Amino acid sequence: MKIKEIRTVLFKAPLKTPFKTALRRVDQLEDLVVVVECDDGSVGYGEGAPTPAITGETIGSMIAAIEYIKPSLLGLDMEEFDTVLQKIHNSIVKNTTAKSAIEIAFYDLRAKNLKLPLYRMLGGTQKVFKTDITISMNQIDKMVFDSLDALERGYEILKVKVGDNPQKDIQRIRAIWDAVGKKAVLRLDANQGWSAAQSVEVLQSLEKAGIMPELIEQPVKADDLAGLRYIKERVQTPLLADESVFSIKDAITLLEQHAVDYINIKLAKTAGITQALKLADIVNGFGVKCMLGCMLEGPFSVAAGAHVASAKAHIITMIDLDAVSLLSHNPVQTSVQFEESQIALSEEIGLGVSLLS
Ligand SMILES: [Mg+2]
Repeated sequence: MKIKEIRTVLFKAPLKTPFKTALRRVDQLEDLVVVVECDDGSVGYGEGAPTPAITGETIGSMIAAIEYIKPSLLGLDMEEFDTVLQKIHNSIVKNTTAKSAIEIAFYDLRAKNLKLPLYRMLGGTQKVFKTDITISMNQIDKMVFDSLDALERGYEILKVKVGDNPQKDIQRIRAIWDAVGKKAVLRLDANQGWSAAQSVEVLQSLEKAGIMPELIEQPVKADDLAGLRYIKERVQTPLLADESVFSIKDAITLLEQHAVDYINIKLAKTAGITQALKLADIVNGFGVKCMLGCMLEGPFSVAAGAHVASAKAHIITMIDLDAVSLLSHNPVQTSVQFEESQIALSEEIGLGVSLLS
């Protein structure tokens, strides 16, 4: 079956509440769905959410990149799947979210061609995942309220966004820790907001108070490798690299220098599924575990993340795929269940998510 058409659809969905980190505030999800059609009528769906502060992409740049890649793909046969992937990745550098969105659509199509759920095509068996939920950065009482509300809704892992003010961040984390007690695991994400010295100050202060988060994610700037090493040598709390790792090379550099304990894999950074799978295997070679994370994105790409997590379940032990549960409603057709903290893949062939027809 030959590739007949590739088009993009703007996908918008309101959030239950604004999403706030040290880098940005978002009130409405706005991303891009890629639709690939073959001459036999089969259709594949992909998605990517531009995050200018992290990948440098916008809706406009994503559309332009996909339009740029498109002519090299039209007319190819889906049997030449490896060629399709090579064309996507070799036609343009960077533009990782755009390439991820288009790649996901082709994986969806490929799995449909093979009549397999995507996770089975990738070799996975795990179908059910427990995700954490983001607690947006706000005033302390609001963050405590949101944390308790998340517990009520069944979440057992909270991803607490900090990073705008080290002293206030200590107060935020202490207040949440005191409020939730042993009922939840805390993950901290500073989104590059601290210096290395501030990170050590905050984390040592928490450790002295007996507060032990599961990990601290990306405390310092993405390119501050020395800073990560400085922190790792001085604190007990495990360090997770997010914005510092897009490529396999980035991960190898950090892991060879013992700069972090874990790696956060996101399809929008790895340019899709192919490199995400390879990255997991490489990281595993260092004896290190991964998180599968997402941007503020919709059900197509979040589902794709869950399929990847299934394929590498022995390596990807932490799931941060809460984006769909942050939407006030889910305006697509999906056999993948997004029920608060639980994500369950189905036996439907392909990705399991499609636009309403
Ligand atoms: Mg992060």
